[in-house]
Amino acid sequence: MPLEEYKRKRKFEDTPEPPPKLGSKTGHRFVVQKHDATRLHYDFRLEMDGVLKSWAVPKGPSLDPGDKRLAMQVEDHPVSYFDFEGIIPENNYGAGTVMVWDLGTWQPLSPVQVEGKYVPATDAEAAAMLAKGDLKFRLNGKKLKGDFALVKMRGRRPGSKGNEWLLIKKHDAAEVEGYDIDDYDESVLSKRSLAEIAGNAGAKEWKSSRPASRGKLKAAWLADAVAKLDQKNLAKKAPAKAAKKKQKSQTQGTRRNTG
Ligand code: MN
Repeated sequence: MPLEEYKRKRKFEDTPEPPPKLGSKTGHRFVVQKHDATRLHYDFRLEMDGVLKSWAVPKGPSLDPGDKRLAMQVEDHPVSYFDFEGIIPENNYGAGTVMVWDLGTWQPLSPVQVEGKYVPATDAEAAAMLAKGDLKFRLNGKKLKGDFALVKMRGRRPGSKGNEWLLIKKHDAAEVEGYDIDDYDESVLSKRSLAEIAGNAGAKEWKSSRPASRGKLKAAWLADAVAKLDQKNLAKKAPAKAAKKKQKSQTQGTRRNTG
C-alpha cells in the first residue's frame, strides 16, 4: 500500500507533518528540504505517481557535474509534504528543523539523446527508468536548474542496504563549477535560515513575514503553497502568542533526536 512506511514511522497526533494521503498522479513538482535531524542532510523529493519519491542526500545536491552526491532512497512521502517547513518535535521520527530549500517542477528525460541533447520522456518511461535504477530528469527550480541523473549503486559497498544512489549534475548551461551549497542557505518559501525556523535565540533578526521574493512566485501552485504556509503561520500565531515566551526557551532544546 502506498505511503504505508511513511504512516508506520510517524505519530500524527505528535508531528505537524502532513497525513499519508495519496495525491493526483499527474503532478511534476520537486522539493529539496534541508533537515537538521540526527545528522544534517537534504531530502530530495520528486513528485511521481501521486507520491514524493524521496532520497536523503547528506551533502545536498550540487550544480557541479564533478560532484557525485550519495543519495539514500527513503520511504515515499505524501505530495502535501512539498511545502512542509517547521519543527518535527522531539521523540518523533526525524525530529529537528525542516527548511524548504528549493521548489520547482521536473521533467523526465529520455535516455536516448537527440543531437547530443536530452529530450523529454513520458511518465511511463520515467517509472521504467526509476525501476531500472537510472533516472534522468530536468529541474526547473529556484536554485536547482538543468539536467540531472539519479543512478542506483549496485552492491559496491559491504553492508549496503541496496538503497544507495548517486545524484549527478549533467553538463549543460546550468552547471556551476565549485558549487557551494552553503552559499544558498535560506528557505525559498520564507527566506529564513534553519536557526530562524527553529526559533533559536541569537539567530539573525526576523526579516519580514512578507519575503521580498514574493513577486517572483509566478507559478500558481507555488503561490498556492506560499498562501497555505502563510495561513498555517497565521493560525499558529494567535494561540501561540501567549505561549511564545515559553516556546522560545523550549525550542533551544528541541532538536537532534531520531531520524
Ligand atoms: Mn530527512
